[in-house]
Amino acid sequence: MTLVVVGASLAGLRAVESARRHGYSGRIVMIGAEPHPPYDRPPLSKAALSAGAGGGAQPFRTEAELRSVLGVEPMLGVWADGLDTAAREISAAGTTVRYDSAVIATGAAPRQLPGSQGVAGVHTLRTVDDAAAIRAAWDRGARTVVIGAGFVGSEVASAARRRGVEVTLVDSQQAPLSRSVGTLVGAACIDLHRAAGTELRLGTGVAGLEVAGGAVSGVRLATGEVLPAELVVVGIGVTPATAWLADSGIPLSERDGGVLCDETLATGVPGVYAAGDVAHVPNPLFDHELMRPEHWTAAAEQGTAAARHALDPDSAQALPAVPYFWSDWYGHRIQFVGTPLADEVVIATPADTGLTALYRRADRLVGACTIDRPRVIMKYRRRIAQRAPWSEALEFAAGVANPV
Ligand code: NAP
Repeated sequence: MTLVVVGASLAGLRAVESARRHGYSGRIVMIGAEPHPPYDRPPLSKAALSAGAGGGAQPFRTEAELRSVLGVEPMLGVWADGLDTAAREISAAGTTVRYDSAVIATGAAPRQLPGSQGVAGVHTLRTVDDAAAIRAAWDRGARTVVIGAGFVGSEVASAARRRGVEVTLVDSQQAPLSRSVGTLVGAACIDLHRAAGTELRLGTGVAGLEVAGGAVSGVRLATGEVLPAELVVVGIGVTPATAWLADSGIPLSERDGGVLCDETLATGVPGVYAAGDVAHVPNPLFDHELMRPEHWTAAAEQGTAAARHALDPDSAQALPAVPYFWSDWYGHRIQFVGTPLADEVVIATPADTGLTALYRRADRLVGACTIDRPRVIMKYRRRIAQRAPWSEALEFAAGVANPV
């Protein structure tokens, strides 16, 4: 028996750990494109950008531990380039690995700004090597423009200000993080940036880069304004890393190329499951809406479940998970559970006491966002999982805001 896990980040690692925890004693091969063993990504846009931060990411497991503790054959620094569903083979680096079960956990790749390829001083942020390049530019005092005010852009701006770097944040939306929290809470997030001295250019796209001698010298906005820059960080979203599956017969989303799974993470191709940023999964808690949450928690939960289901399909169950993410800006913690796609959003407690926003669909609570209220967010997560009525959620929020 061979389990092949393609992807050596959080979802892939959790898949391996779960297989061993459930008593699987067969062969496990883990294929990872990066030369590093699995490491934690959230610090990359936070502590890893601090002055004097260490060079490498702290791995969850060293390569030696992968071998000795988990009994894994790691193939690191290797791109998988094909999957043959009939032969049950995955090809990588000129060789093929036969699988009985496989977990696709290849994650997603940052979208590139058109015209930025090969221009020095322009970086996306997904890997430990990207973080090192940004940190080194700040060590040289590089004037910084960040394109995209989502997770990556907002956390990078926060890290820049912590180091005293002048930074301008540009987004085509009218508010930061609006794709993930909606425009109402996004508007509240504007204040966090402004209070920390981050310059904002919202509601404007980028017309192009100014380049001098092969290196970026500025960012030209659609408004005509040119922002001088020696460092440009691009955080404009990600695309599932599935080019290697193009002709495989694994079902892929027409919209973004992500792997289409059922509620148990099965792809419909015998033995093949998917997990993490790469996977579209219908969520029974939200009218079976296809979700691809791109969050740490989803990668961990799905990786764990995918291996178990791949090895024992008869025990596979739907994953009724409530998505959860957090993001740290300027010492503030933004936390979100559920979905921002709602009929109504209500600010239940205003920002001066730590913001709580609730999201309603029909007569149910489907989402909640807090800023600096870390003790309550999981209470909303439980309520969403239990399909709590909207009226009960409002009452609960009022009670938390005004404890007797
Ligand atoms: P994101 O959160 O989707 O935000 C991208 C933002 O850039 C959106 O507001 C988008 O607007 C805007 N944008 C797109 N094209 C643009 C352009 N040409 N000019 C200006 N703005 C543009 O994506 P991200 O920040 O790149 O994050 C990507 C990944 O990082 C996610 O997978 C996430 O899991 C991960 N991440 C997570 C965390 C966390 O959970 N705390 C932290 C760091 C990274 P539109 O909506 O109009 O496209």
